[in-house]
Amino acid sequence: MTVVMKGKPVADAISEKLIKEVEQLKSKSIEPKLTIIRIGAKGSDLAYERGALKRSKTIGISTQVVELPEDVTQENFLKEIKKANEDKSTNGILVFRPFPAHIDENAVKNAIDPAKDVDCMSPVNFEKVFEGDNSGFGPCTAEAVVQLLKYNKVPIKSTDITVVGASLVVGKPLSMMLLNEFATVSICHIFTKDTAAISCKSDVVISAAGKAKLIQTQHLKEGAIVVDVGINALPDGKICGDVDYDGVFDKVKAITPVPGGVGSITTSILASHVVKACKLQNNL
Ligand code: NAD
Repeated sequence: MTVVMKGKPVADAISEKLIKEVEQLKSKSIEPKLTIIRIGAKGSDLAYERGALKRSKTIGISTQVVELPEDVTQENFLKEIKKANEDKSTNGILVFRPFPAHIDENAVKNAIDPAKDVDCMSPVNFEKVFEGDNSGFGPCTAEAVVQLLKYNKVPIKSTDITVVGASLVVGKPLSMMLLNEFATVSICHIFTKDTAAISCKSDVVISAAGKAKLIQTQHLKEGAIVVDVGINALPDGKICGDVDYDGVFDKVKAITPVPGGVGSITTSILASHVVKACKLQNNL
């Protein structure tokens, strides 16, 4: 029978551990804090922000949201980042991407303090992901996928894994994280000649392309494990992943739903990064 790998139990297990860690920190009068700096009020940003605030509250992490207008100048945006960098009570900083066109993403990436960069904006943290250096912070979504696989006891070492999607936010860092754990990783992208020919040989297929129904039965071998990172809005307003969930369900050994899969884990990873940042900043 096909196993549905939901995100909630993974997120709950991470949260439970963090609640205890935060209690211990508070007994030393240390309170972890996340500062979110948001430009504008995009629906997807607000939805993620609500989730992050709720998760933080459950765990005992304090939060602050800095709202900036859509037309904020580069200078003022960088000023807010500098303020959060220098604010001793802030341990983690989250900014939402993509930025409005007039904001230079490179300047932002280099402005954020790597020690507070809890979603891997900074090239310093990105490089650490490639090096397999766990002292930094990987992108939360990529790490959520790895945690989901581990929670479900999916072997990674020596496993053939295809990652569909090669963005800086998900596909590339995720591929490196899996490689660091000795998976044999194939990376497919928009210009891959024949994604199905590659993915159908893999034990695990992870899709992070942002294209509804991209992954069909011909992309998967019998008994494959499928992780769907995609979040796509359908014309009727419903959300779906990249995988033709109903179409492939009987062929696969395990699959994540959308919604209710990887997306449900991301805020608990974010919280774990804030706690980790807090401990490091307090030399713990
Ligand atoms: P992106 O647009 O930056 O990158 C998409 C990648 O997929 C690119 O590398 C592109 O080459 C590749 N791609 C696109 N069409 C393809 C095709 N037909 N065949 C093979 N490869 C193809 O997107 P992103 O920011 O990496 O996000 C990817 C998806 O993951 C989106 O649906 C996004 O909403 C979702 N996402 C989910 C979470 C979560 O928490 N679950 C977080 C971030 C992103």
